[in-house]
This record gives sequence, structure tokens and C-alpha cells, in this order.
Amino acid sequence: MMAQLIDGKQISAEVLQEVASEVALLKAEHDIVPTLAVVLVGEDPASQVYVRNKVKRATEAGMGSIEHRLDAGTTQSDLNELIDFLNNDPEVHGILVQLPLPPHLNEDEVISSIHPAKDVDGFHPLNVGALASGRPSLVPCTPQGCMIMLRQVHPDLSGKNAVVVGRSNIVGKPMAALLLQANCTVTIAHSRTKNIESLCRNADIVVAAVGRAEFINADWISPGATVIDVGINAIDVDGKRKLFGDVDFESVSPIAGAITPVPGGVGPMTIACLLLNTTRAAKFQLD
Ligand code: NDP
Repeated sequence: MMAQLIDGKQISAEVLQEVASEVALLKAEHDIVPTLAVVLVGEDPASQVYVRNKVKRATEAGMGSIEHRLDAGTTQSDLNELIDFLNNDPEVHGILVQLPLPPHLNEDEVISSIHPAKDVDGFHPLNVGALASGRPSLVPCTPQGCMIMLRQVHPDLSGKNAVVVGRSNIVGKPMAALLLQANCTVTIAHSRTKNIESLCRNADIVVAAVGRAEFINADWISPGATVIDVGINAIDVDGKRKLFGDVDFESVSPIAGAITPVPGGVGPMTIACLLLNTTRAAKFQLD
């Protein structure tokens, strides 16, 4: 039996529809157009693609979008000034600074300078703390998208053993916090973890956020487990750029109970949740 495919394209389309109706409501009732400002520093090709997609989807959902493209040599104070301006612009509801930044810029300083109520990436220390202590906050988009996908398979996650492979601030840690909030028993694995395979083999849910192509194979997965593959690894195959997940889809899908594909899995959910966060931010700012 092949695993159930958790279709990120379809589920994200549903989320985007929900966003579009929220946007219409905000317009009709409060004369507000939820607006996302995206800041891109430099010419990283992958970041350019991400930014283009985010702006495109925002427009499709009836939202406003503002793009600020700064050259790679932008100084910290110029960037801070722009963020300050966006923080104070009442027409801007969400601010996203595309990461990674060029190495001469301090990412932590930039993240902390975004007003927490406009921090649609959910990376500001106040939002991180709010998530950790279970208070309403703007939740990082990728793990939020993973949770929506997991709920399709497990409406009740209570008591499930979940292993998150990866402990980054943008995926692994907030993912673990959300699973814990949903009453899973959570293990976070990383590069220093011992017996990582056997930990995964005991899991009902494995979330892979490692950044290594096809790192997790069939030997790691218990029959019937749910596998969420966050990885996006671009590799040249015969001169063509191909995307691979962190999970070896071919070997794992006959064993798992449900699995997300790459591409077409977590990726589209991330953008949908970004727009969801922007409408949420617009509503917070109303209050
Ligand atoms: P990071 O590089 O920040 O983190 C990777 C994590 O994996 C680290 O915690 C690292 O451990 C761990 N790791 C690395 N090697 C091993 C190993 N051999 N065994 C166990 N753990 C290991 O990556 P991100 O969290 O930012 O991203 C992870 C993946 O998800 C990437 O492929 C990225 O492209 C993708 N991604 C996809 C998104 C989407 O929208 N679908 C959004 C964001 C990311 P340690 O901390 O010990 O170094």
C-alpha cells in the first residue's frame, strides 16, 4: 500500500481561499486592504524567486503588496531606517525581510527591529516567547503550514510520538513548540543526536527539516507513520536543477501512512500561511 499523499497544492489553495474571504471582509467592514511589505537585500536567486511568489500570491488574494529591493551593499542603518518607516506606516500590516541577508548585516538586529505586531514571519523574540508560553502570536509560516497538513491526517494529535529532525529557529524549534501545544510527545533531533534512526523508527510523526537531500530513508520510518518533508534541496541532475526533499520519497512512501511530496508539499503551505499571518496582523492592528 502506498502512503496517502498530503497535497500541499490543494490544501494551500483552500487556505488561500480562506485568506481571500478574510481580505474581502476587512475591506467591506473596515475599509482596510491587508498589505504585506517584502524587503529583499541583494540578488540571491532563490530569494528572488521566493519574493516574487509571495508578492504574486498576495496580489491574487486581493491583498496589497509593497516590494523594496535594496542592493547587496545596503548598510545596516539604511535597512533599519526602512524598517522603521514600514513599522510606522499605517497602510502596512505585515513586514517580511527575506533571509538570508548578506553577511555584513546583522540578522538578529533586523528581526528584532520589526514591530512584533507586523512580524508576519513570527521570528521576533516577543513572538517566539509568546509561542513558547502558549499565548496568541504570529506563528512562523513553515511550521504553521506543517500543522495544517498534519491535521488533515490526524485531527487529534494528542499523545502522538513526534520527532522533529532539525532545530533551526525558523523551522525545527517552532515546529516542536506547536506539536507540544497539540499534546504530542516531542523529541527534537539534530546533528549531535545519537541513535537518530531508532528515535525516528519509534515515531508516529516525523518532521524532516535538515537541509540534506533524501537524508531520511525507509529504514528510519515505522509502518503507517506520517512524514512531513520540509526540505528543499536544489541539485543539478544532468545539467537540470531539480528539487529534492530531506526524505527519500521513493523508498519511504510504500511504508509511511501519509507523506508530503517535494515540490508541492510544505512549500506552497508556507506562502499561504504568510498571507494568513498578514490578515491576522491586520486584524490585531484593528484592535
Ligand atoms: P538549518 O540549516 O538552519 O537547520 C538544519 C538543522 O538540521 C540543524 O538543526 C542541524 O543540526 C540539523 N542537521 C544537519 N545535519 C544533520 C544530521 N546529519 N543529522 C541530524 N540533524 C542534522 O535549516 P532550516 O531549518 O532553515 O531548513 C531545513 C530545510 O528546510 C532546508 O532544506 C530548507 O531549504 C528547507 N526549508 C523549506 C521551507 C519551505 O517552505 N518548505 C522553509 C524553510 C526551510 P545542528 O543544529 O546540530 O547543526
